Amino acid sequence: MYDYVIVGAGSAGCVLANRLSEDPDVSVLLLEAGGPDTNDLVHVPAAFPALYRTAQDWDHSTIYEPYANDRRIYLPRGKVLGGSSSINAMVYIRGNRLDYDGWGLEGWRYDDLLPYFKRAEDNERGPDEHHGVGGPLPVGESRSRNPLSQRFLDAVASRGLPMNPDFNAGEQDGFGWYQLTQRRGARASTAVAYLHRVADRTNLTVETHVHALKLLFEGTRAVGVRGTRLGEMLDFSAEREVIVSCGTYNSPQLLMLSGLGRPEELEPLQIEVVAEVPQIGVGLQDHPNTGVVYAIDEEISLFGALNDENLLLFESEGRGPLTSNIAEVGGFARTRGGLDAPDVQFHFVPGRFQSEGLMPGEGHGFSLGVCLVTPKSRGGVMLGSPDPTAKPLIVHNYLEHEDDVASLVSGLRMCLEICSTEPLGELVSGVVQGPASDSDDDLLTYARQYLMTLYHPVGTCRMGDDDGAVVDRELRVRGVEGVRVVDASVMPSVPRGNTNAPTIALAERAADLIRGRTPLRPQGADAESAPAETAAATAAGGARSGAAGPVSPA
Ligand SMILES: Cc1cc2nc3c(=O)[nH]c(=O)nc-3n(C[C@H](O)[C@H](O)[C@H](O)COP(=O)(O)OP(=O)(O)OC[C@H]3O[C@@H](n4cnc5c(N)ncnc54)[C@H](O)[C@@H]3O)c2cc1C
Repeated sequence: MYDYVIVGAGSAGCVLANRLSEDPDVSVLLLEAGGPDTNDLVHVPAAFPALYRTAQDWDHSTIYEPYANDRRIYLPRGKVLGGSSSINAMVYIRGNRLDYDGWGLEGWRYDDLLPYFKRAEDNERGPDEHHGVGGPLPVGESRSRNPLSQRFLDAVASRGLPMNPDFNAGEQDGFGWYQLTQRRGARASTAVAYLHRVADRTNLTVETHVHALKLLFEGTRAVGVRGTRLGEMLDFSAEREVIVSCGTYNSPQLLMLSGLGRPEELEPLQIEVVAEVPQIGVGLQDHPNTGVVYAIDEEISLFGALNDENLLLFESEGRGPLTSNIAEVGGFARTRGGLDAPDVQFHFVPGRFQSEGLMPGEGHGFSLGVCLVTPKSRGGVMLGSPDPTAKPLIVHNYLEHEDDVASLVSGLRMCLEICSTEPLGELVSGVVQGPASDSDDDLLTYARQYLMTLYHPVGTCRMGDDDGAVVDRELRVRGVEGVRVVDASVMPSVPRGNTNAPTIALAERAADLIRGRTPLRPQGADAESAPAETAAATAAGGARSGAAGPVSPA
């Protein structure tokens, strides 16, 4: 019997496990289907594609993509302590304030979340109005600065595009080095940043290799979780709440397996309906990505970097090419006038990134990917089987919307232009993967054929004030008691940028909501302009400053 049972030890789940167990009077159980993060490759930044389709990966895919030549598109997701933060590319990006303000949800605007981004953060650049220090999540400069990455930035500059030294300080447009979630050159997953450091708390239990099969209900109240480990059936009781943090594909699956969803879909699968929550699984959104790959003769790319010499350098000094997160530099741009914020993001790779990252490139080269950060196309996650170990059915509908097509085609053209610009273009010795020409038709044909995910799915357990939303503003699932969803799936739309930091900030705020603590104040808020909950707290003398720096546990 635990007070809280958290299902899923990913980006959100590890934050929750840490924050909820700060209170010594509550007991917390964290369940994870994957194993501990003991595979050395988890901690070597440049090795993340080597984890694809291994035991650390759920290895999802779309069943087909109707607007991408009916292809099955590979969708990696971390199945290990740290979840997808243990296999991701470590880029630290928050998105644009318009994204959060656009959700239109009190308490979740950018200004509301900024104190949580800062509370999480330990930024090696030091504190300022945008950044925090002393938080659990180390954020720092890339220690591997491949010369190709610098050439990319020089090519961008020669095209007159702006540089941006900090994508998380208000202005998003421009190009530069990405800051990374890393400590001393190694990956800082949320398991590393939030979980391992509190492993000695007696009120926190972590169970790995437990695949949650369903939530247990008494009437419409959740009382626990049923899971399985090596074929053994295990029931875990939750006195206060069950918190589902299984990620955008698995959270809706677990809720549907538990009898929440659309009766007309659950009943044929002989799943007893606990509550009708029609929009579970609906509204899936992601950043579709495409790009170009070139060969070069100079032996300066990451090709062959995973060798003993570099491993030694990585282990002894936290330096060298293996500290590269692969997507070292990039930036944001607007593909046309009249946009109020960027619609595309670029990731430059000093190596050949092809075949959705599943096949290592043969030979030296570089790649430039462009992803659409304002997708209008939406898909969904459905149950294909009542068997909890079967994969959910996923369709993204990438490129269904004509605006998505227009932005991605323009972004792909920008890729061609940048890669042919000096001092990058002069290195190219051949095209490994690229469109036939820069005509709209050829670019679109190519984009549909080489489209891949940029790994940022959200939206399948949408938060909202409307009756159709899956969870309310406190992330409680509608129609039942004692269940919350806390992970990327609750985001009503995908932020413009990589989604790890947003998920962590969201979980930081959720932890305060679950603990019944007064949410941190928006920066500079005064009693008059603050939201009602904050104003009340201020009056009671209970609100804390959102200023930079660590916030000590209550
Ligand atoms: C390859 C890749 C690269 C990425 N690169 C970046 C990047 O550079 N920067 C960035 O900001 N974001 C990146 N992302 C995205 C980012 O990592 C995710 O948005 C974020 O980790 C999502 O967090 P989450 O808590 O929603 O889910 P996850 O972190 O995926 O956590 C879900 C957890 O639940 C567990 N789980 C699922 N089902 C069950 C079950 N039934 N029972 C028990 N446990 C279960 C999973 O094993 C997992 O540990 C990347 C993602 C991937 C996959």
